[in-house]
Amino acid sequence: MTRHDITGTAAAARPAQTPDGPPRAAALIDIGINLAHDSYDADREAVIARAAAAGVVQMIVTGSSAASSRTAVQLSRQHPGVLFATAGVHPHQATELTAQVLAELGELTAEPQVVAVGECGLDYYRNYSPRPAQCQAFHRQLELAARCGKPVFLHQRDSHEDFIAILREHRTALAGGVAHCFTGGPAELDCYLELGLAIGITGWICDERRGAHLLELVRRIPADRLLLETDGPYLLPRDLERKPPSRRNEPVYLPHIAAVVARARGETVESLAHASTQATRRLFRLPAIDAAHSLRSSDPGTHQESPKWT
Ligand SMILES: [Zn+2]
Repeated sequence: MTRHDITGTAAAARPAQTPDGPPRAAALIDIGINLAHDSYDADREAVIARAAAAGVVQMIVTGSSAASSRTAVQLSRQHPGVLFATAGVHPHQATELTAQVLAELGELTAEPQVVAVGECGLDYYRNYSPRPAQCQAFHRQLELAARCGKPVFLHQRDSHEDFIAILREHRTALAGGVAHCFTGGPAELDCYLELGLAIGITGWICDERRGAHLLELVRRIPADRLLLETDGPYLLPRDLERKPPSRRNEPVYLPHIAAVVARARGETVESLAHASTQATRRLFRLPAIDAAHSLRSSDPGTHQESPKWT
């Protein structure tokens, strides 16, 4: 097993060529990867190594249930400085959020590897949990985020009005948050921005059937609030030249998403990556990693200092 310490030695020592992946891009952070998902069981370490070789220097592993939150924390412990975790219960599993589970989430959020509460929110598209249970679970997790002082990792689908109403009740107590996997329209985007949220953009933007509107909308997101994520194993970018036979998404494709977003905004990938990485570290208080600089060392013109978020 390859471990990556905070000096980034393992990642930096890797050759620049990645024959099986896309060309290396500037240092990126995947803010939403469901790495606890069983589709990664057979090759999780290889997935992490491929991501590092492609310039994805840090990743936030999404917790969406008590079990996956525990696994996310364990993975983060095994890859200090590279992997971080969220702890929370997805609206699909809202009925799972008993007092006992809430207490366990409270313990997990005290861990230094946990950088956000979530994913939490509302999903009225599938309604796997009844709506009242979803609202209750959302309230409880926003309260937890306020107590632990960590930002929230938010999920919303077809529930914008209730979602915003609940969020507004807790807004002043929260240490920020991100509307993860944003797929909505201009009114939703403006509302989130007005609430002070960061916006997570996934490979949904690469889907010409249902994501084309995002090509226009990403131009309206301030550079210091635009975060990038794969949401793997879901949402494999549809426009990849070579799709994996498994159709499984993974962080190695984040540079591809970054390139699509940068093109839509009329900026370079380097400038988008730099702003997005800085914004991610600021929101989630991630440490800078030396690998981020080693990976960019051949590009002194854009080398930037990293603020300390201690
Ligand atoms: Zn989600």
